[in-house]
Amino acid sequence: AADKPLLRFITCGSVDDGKSTLIGRLLYDAELAPDDLIAALEADSKKHGTQGDDLDFALLVDGLAAEREQGITIDVAYRYFATDKRKFIVADTPGHEQYTRNMAVGASTADLAILLVDARKGILPQTRRHSMITSMFGVRHVVVAVNKMDLVDYSEEIFRKIEADFREFAKHLRFASIYVLPLVAKDGDNLVHGGAVNMPWHDGPPLLTYLEGVAVEDVMRIAPFRMPVQWVNRPNLDFRGFSGFISGGNIRPGDIVRILPLGRDTRVSRVVTYDGDLESAVSGQAVTITLAEEIDCSRGDLLSSPVSPAKAGDRLEAKLLWLVREPLVVGKSYLLKIGARTTPASVSEVESRIEIESGLAAPIASGETLAFNEIGEARLSLETVVACDAYVENRETGGFILIDRITNETVAVGMVKTVAASERRAA
Ligand code: GDP
Repeated sequence: AADKPLLRFITCGSVDDGKSTLIGRLLYDAELAPDDLIAALEADSKKHGTQGDDLDFALLVDGLAAEREQGITIDVAYRYFATDKRKFIVADTPGHEQYTRNMAVGASTADLAILLVDARKGILPQTRRHSMITSMFGVRHVVVAVNKMDLVDYSEEIFRKIEADFREFAKHLRFASIYVLPLVAKDGDNLVHGGAVNMPWHDGPPLLTYLEGVAVEDVMRIAPFRMPVQWVNRPNLDFRGFSGFISGGNIRPGDIVRILPLGRDTRVSRVVTYDGDLESAVSGQAVTITLAEEIDCSRGDLLSSPVSPAKAGDRLEAKLLWLVREPLVVGKSYLLKIGARTTPASVSEVESRIEIESGLAAPIASGETLAFNEIGEARLSLETVVACDAYVENRETGGFILIDRITNETVAVGMVKTVAASERRAA
């Protein structure tokens, strides 16, 4: 059971589309044993590298969970359940006002998104918005759940129209897979059991069967090695280890790692957990690494594969999703938190605003900025050099948050596009 594959997913939809009904009914119909159903799982139970049962809680902790360390509440509840075939973690993303924020946090670790559509309403601007954000945060697989089919007399024609509308719109989002299915969440039609009586015209599997079978590439395990150093573990003079979550690839004793942004290479001596030494560890695991040499390495540094290293720089080009009522202020000093590093940073220029419905970037006039829930492309100038990746390469080492220095509020989530060193630094 320990090696059952894991699927992380989120549900997205407007209020009353049936998100809670869908999850509740799915769990109920699947007749899961109570101990397969742990509600509102606490994300940080494995934070300090302990090993528990076969569920890897560490997988719940992501780059954006930097927020949690900040002491800022994220309203995302993670629910865990398992069937014979697969383990699931579903991110429940509530909230009206802060829905986008919660969705972004949920999406940043999800493999798949279930987009709910009310059959009576079809594809709404919110559907397009949620799809955009889902795609932007790196979710590659979507299920479009056309819910409340009972309220449109189980009409195949209405369903086909919604499916066609979605597929047309989603072309530019480049999802790896899209499954559109008609549902009655309330009655369980096409959730765990097929909807043959009411919707015999639908020939795809019910939702749970689909989720059990959908192939999602575990790209992080084959990605180049990355581990942000969360803390330096020094219980006594004989031991100096670097602890954190592996956020890409794998590591073994004997491997060479590059310490960034310093740029020095050294050999890994041991890969330690509270259960003892490991012969290898992979993305998602919390470990403590000891190094062969006494090299300067501290909290916030990034241990990286020397073959495909992360980039170090103090100039970023990034996408920003602005999360608060007070608009972005160009030139203002915020705190930027990426991996385990926090540094003062300012936005030097907002280059474009992304049209939510088309996903296209439209240049904006000088002096304009980003407002609540807007997405744009911006240039950032950091006070110190950080090591990071493009978000498309690694969601954890390429995702960051911006924090207001006075209110301590998270004002934006960001995705690195490119990183460069300013001339001052490069010189
Ligand atoms: P949420 O806000 O997205 O979590 O939506 P809920 O799950 O709370 O559902 C909102 C309302 O829609 C509730 O009254 C549900 O009973 C109802 N509902 C959910 N699914 C269906 C469905 O398939 N058919 C019908 N007729 N009503 C549904």
